[in-house]
Order: sequence, then C-alpha cells, then structure tokens
Amino acid sequence: MKKILLLLCLLLTVSLACAEQHVCAPGGLVDMDLNERWDLCECGKRLNVTQHVWETDDWGDQLCSICGAQLFFWEDGSLELCGVDEQDSVIRQLGWNAEGDLVTNLSTVYEYDAEGHIAYAWYYEADVLYAESAFALDADGYETEVLSIVYYDDGSMSVSEYNLMGDQTMASYYYDGELESTLRFDYTYNAEGVITRMRTFSEDALIEEADYVVMTVGDEIHHYPARLTAWFEDDTRIVYVNDMNGDTLSESHYDAAGNLVLTLEFTTEYDADGNLLRVTTTQDGVLAMVEEYALDADGWTYLAVETAYEADGTQTVTRYDENGEMIN
Ligand SMILES: [Zn+2]
Ligand SMILES: [Zn+2]
Repeated sequence: MKKILLLLCLLLTVSLACAEQHVCAPGGLVDMDLNERWDLCECGKRLNVTQHVWETDDWGDQLCSICGAQLFFWEDGSLELCGVDEQDSVIRQLGWNAEGDLVTNLSTVYEYDAEGHIAYAWYYEADVLYAESAFALDADGYETEVLSIVYYDDGSMSVSEYNLMGDQTMASYYYDGELESTLRFDYTYNAEGVITRMRTFSEDALIEEADYVVMTVGDEIHHYPARLTAWFEDDTRIVYVNDMNGDTLSESHYDAAGNLVLTLEFTTEYDADGNLLRVTTTQDGVLAMVEEYALDADGWTYLAVETAYEADGTQTVTRYDENGEMIN
C-alpha cells in the first residue's frame, strides 16, 4: 500500500511539473469552422473561442458580424469560408465541394509593421508551411514583395528576392538544404523607371547583359532587348542584335581572346497577316541557310523546308511535316 501511494505521489509531482512547463498562448494561427473561430496554441488547444454570428450581406452571402468571416454558397453546391484578421486580410480559406469533402484548406499568418502594413506572411496548406514572403514599401508607399521562399514536396526550396521596383534581383534553388544554384540580376533604369540594362550573374560571374530600347510606334510602346551578350564558361561570348518584333538580326561570335570569329545575319519575312514566312541566314556575308515556314490545318506556323548552302556550292534541302518529322 505504501508503495502505491509513493508511486501516486511521484506521478502527481511529474504531471504537475509538466503542466508548469507549458502555458497555452495564441501561437499566431487563427482557425475556424462554420460555427466558431479560435486562436490556436502550438499544442493544438483552442483558445478564445467565439461563435460566428452569420448575417446576410448586400450580396446575399453570409457575413459574420463578430469576426468579418464570409460564407459563399456557390451554384455548383460547393461552400467556401473566408476568414479575415483585424486588418481585413484573408487569413483562412476553407472550401467544401457539393459532397461535403474539404477541398481547400489554406491559412496565412501576417506580421504587420507599426503603421499596419504587411511586413511578412507565412502561407500554409493543410497546416504545412509551403511559402513565405517579406514585404517592404515602394516609393509610392505600397507594400511590395521583396522576398519569396517556396517549399516543394521533394524537399527542395526556391528563394527569390525583388527590388522595390518589383524586379527580381536574386533566384536561388536549394535541394536537401544545400544551395544548388544562385543567379543575381542587376538593373539600370531610365528617368521613367523603365529598365535600360539588365545584367545576370552566376557565382559573381557576369553571364548575360541585355541592353533594352524603349520605342514608341504609333500608340504602342515597345520595350525590347536590342542587344544581348551571353558569356560562356570557356570565356567565349555571343552578341545578339534583336529588333522590336523579337527577331534576331545578327549573332556575333567571339573567342576567349575577344576576336570576332563568326557573324550570322538573319532576314525574317512575314506575310500580310503577320505569319512567319522565311528566315534567310548569311554567314560572314555568304548565304548559308534558308528556312521556309508554312501553316498547318490549325493555323500554326511550322518549319517546312530548310535549304543549307555549302561553301562548295552544294545545296541540301530538307523537308518537314507539321509534326517536325523529316519527309523524303
Ligand atoms: Zn498549449
Ligand atoms: Zn465570426
């Protein structure tokens, strides 16, 4: 009997000690169902449980007069519950199909700055974190995403950074916690905030430089990389010159010592409807290739005939069908 009492005392002491270690507190996650809304402790306990009070709003949807949640009854019989925080940002989306199966289960947790702007967001699907975003204020005072982290099912992760103009400045990819690749992008803008140069770096090495032209034709504004230089691992480079239609006019190939070794020039022809007809290529000023295009039954352009001109005067003609298979 004594032994049992002692054991009971021990158990009591142990359980008291455990209870003292954990004090339930809202962990930042708000959850809800069709009847109630509550703050969630990390241990899973529901705190501050309040009942929804559903009222029909001007649009015929149900609006909770206590927490601002909305219920949408869709024509296909599905049901959607949207919960918002004090700043009216959507923090919970639950959706059921007509059969009553839960088909949407999304949560977002926002962190706000002192002025009430969104500073950070964590995105969950079925309680699993799948993305995070950091925000900063742009020149006009609007929240703009400056960091995006996306977690994939296979354990990989992508990290993207953006500047306050909304242009991506970094793209990293991680697999199994290891950094696999990083690209950095650097921009030059004109006075109107339009990109005039974009440079791409890999491991601090410049691998691409694009010079943009802004041109107004009629009431259309064309913004295109008129000149693009790509550097390769063996230090050779190719300079592409493009027109505003996105067609390449020329390719200049340089060796590692900076000598021009090859120049290709392209003439691209279209029919009156804007369909690609023919691309003529010269190599160092000599006709090298003519590609002729045709339209398939669905109106898609395909390469139909390719004529290669060899230096010795021979011509090789290759014909293709709509599926890109050689005919001969
Ligand atoms: Zn707890
Ligand atoms: Zn409510």
